[in-house]
Amino acid sequence: MNNLVQTQTRLAQSAIATDSAHGAVIAPLYLSSNYAWDDPKNKPSYDYSRSGNPTRDQLEAALCGLEAAAKGVITSSGMAAVDLALSLARPDDLVLAPHDCYGGSHRLLSARSERGHFKLEFVDQSDETALRKAFARKPKLILIETPSNPLLRITDIELCVRLAKKFGTLTIVDNTFLSPALQQPLKLGADMVVHSTTKFINGHSDVVGGALLARDPAIGDELAWWANCTGITGAPFDSFMTLRGVRTLFLRTEQQQESAATLIHEFKQDSRIRRIFYPALKTHPGHEIAARQQTGFGSMFSVEFSSSVDVLQLLRETRIFTVAESLGGFESLICVPAIMTHASMSAEAQKSAGISKTLVRFSIGLEHPKDLIADIKQALDKAVSGSI
Ligand SMILES: *Cc1c(COP(=O)(O)O)cnc(C)c1O
Repeated sequence: MNNLVQTQTRLAQSAIATDSAHGAVIAPLYLSSNYAWDDPKNKPSYDYSRSGNPTRDQLEAALCGLEAAAKGVITSSGMAAVDLALSLARPDDLVLAPHDCYGGSHRLLSARSERGHFKLEFVDQSDETALRKAFARKPKLILIETPSNPLLRITDIELCVRLAKKFGTLTIVDNTFLSPALQQPLKLGADMVVHSTTKFINGHSDVVGGALLARDPAIGDELAWWANCTGITGAPFDSFMTLRGVRTLFLRTEQQQESAATLIHEFKQDSRIRRIFYPALKTHPGHEIAARQQTGFGSMFSVEFSSSVDVLQLLRETRIFTVAESLGGFESLICVPAIMTHASMSAEAQKSAGISKTLVRFSIGLEHPKDLIADIKQALDKAVSGSI
């Protein structure tokens, strides 16, 4: 599809009417692990599903089209995709990562650097002075996560790209929190995009998967080589399910962010809420950058409640919001990052990232926003100290 086609159209058309064998409108699912050779001297285009699978390739093509990537790898999880990106770093190379990145990425980066696989520096990427200082060390890779999890800090992708070009650094943007429906980092000059497709892209909370997509086909080939070598490519069934989710991504993100805005509007007037972390708010430090580099503000936000609220009790009392990790599904979720999603970060790392024990993260789904508001209000009524 050419560049003039809208993202919405690309999404709805993902792998539609591509079946040359029978004209199936929905592409068939190829579960086969291996493929027949018509002649022992003639290697077929698919021979073994770890290295290549038609269903997985369709998901790869769909995601490359959405992110304007030349080539990508569909992996068995988002973590596998982050790890695949890190395979580009050698022991003397420096990797820059956000100090408040996804807890699992923080653990992976720390564990690999402790084993000497590369050097590592965590930096507050929303702080331009700190960022420039870190770039002066000529990093090989910079991992960017914007908006960040769980405080929705915004990193200026174009600024990072400018600095990266100056110092010969490869830029990788974890685009999980927004999905290509709301942000397309390669179009802003980044070299690679990573996704936990587990979240918005699949959107139905029934697949764990990931993707790493590269602008340069040579880097894409190197990544595909590593992915086959280490065996981290995604399962065909998961790819089939994820393609199914991709087709409704646009509609889901539109509705979910509209509902998030409705909830925020209501929460702003509630005295039991002390602070809201959401980039659409004019008071959010990254608001202007977000407005420039995103096409929407998304449906994730975090809240600091007043000290009278027992947040654990709040989570026990919700009836529509499910207490769970993960995000981006059609079901609304609530969690306390310090003891759930970010529990693998040390207390010290949590503190430096600004993740308090009373911070609550919301992932807004497809339920009616009025019901979601009523659910939080009734739970708050029971969680304020002095209430029974
Ligand atoms: C969930 C998540 C990951 C890890 O993905 P998995 O699919 O759980 O392995 C990485 N980055 C971000 C921002 C995430 O939210």
